[in-house]
Amino acid sequence: MNIILFGPPGAGKGTQAKMLCEKYNLLHLSTGEILRNEIKQNTELGKSVKEVIESGKLVSDEIIIKILNLAMDNSRQDNLSGYLFDGFPRNIDQANLLSSLLESLKIKIDCILLIEVDEPILLERILSRKMVEDRSDDNKEILASRIQVYSQETEPLIEYFSANHVVKKVDGVGEIHEVNQRINNALEGF
Ligand code: ADP
Repeated sequence: MNIILFGPPGAGKGTQAKMLCEKYNLLHLSTGEILRNEIKQNTELGKSVKEVIESGKLVSDEIIIKILNLAMDNSRQDNLSGYLFDGFPRNIDQANLLSSLLESLKIKIDCILLIEVDEPILLERILSRKMVEDRSDDNKEILASRIQVYSQETEPLIEYFSANHVVKKVDGVGEIHEVNQRINNALEGF
C-alpha cells in the first residue's frame, strides 16, 4: 500500500505516520525529518537549508528530490509493503515530480489521507511541542508562515489528486490513539 499524507503543520502527521508504517510495513518518507537530521548533523546540506526552514518557507525542489531519491535507494533491500509520503509533495511542481517518480518505480498511490485540524489547535500543539522537541521552526511567527505556505501551495493539491485518487479525510482532533483508530477505519479495505 502506498499513501500520501496531508495535513497542516501540527496536525500530527509524523506521529500517525510512524504508527501507520509499523502496522502496514511501509517506508516512512518524511522530507521534514530528513532535513532536520541533516541540520542536526551539521552537514553541508543541513547548513544550506537551515535558514529557509527557520523562515517557514519551502526548501528548493532540487534538494527535496535529491534527498527523496537517496532515502528510497537506501531502502531498496528492505522487505517493504509500500511507501508513506509525509511532507511531500508540497506544491504542484513536486506533485508532478512525484508522478514521474511513481511511474519509473511502477507504483501507484492507493490513498490520499488528509488529517484535518483547525488553526487555533495547531498553534496550541506547536507551542507545547516546542517545549518537548525544541524544533527551531516551532514558534508563533514561523507557524503563521508555514500555515500560509500550506494553504496556498499544499492544500490545493488535495483537489488536484482527488481527480484520480481516493481521498480520505480524518478528524485530527483528539487523543493520538483516537485519531489512529479513525485512520485505521478510513484505510479499511485497501
Ligand atoms: P510541518 O508539516 O509540521 O511543517 P515538516 O517536518 O513536514 O513539518 O517540514 C518542516 C519544514 O521542512 C518545512 O516548513 C519546509 O521548510 C521543509 N520541508 C519539508 N518538506 C519539504 C518539501 N517537500 N518541500 C520543501 N520544503 C520542505
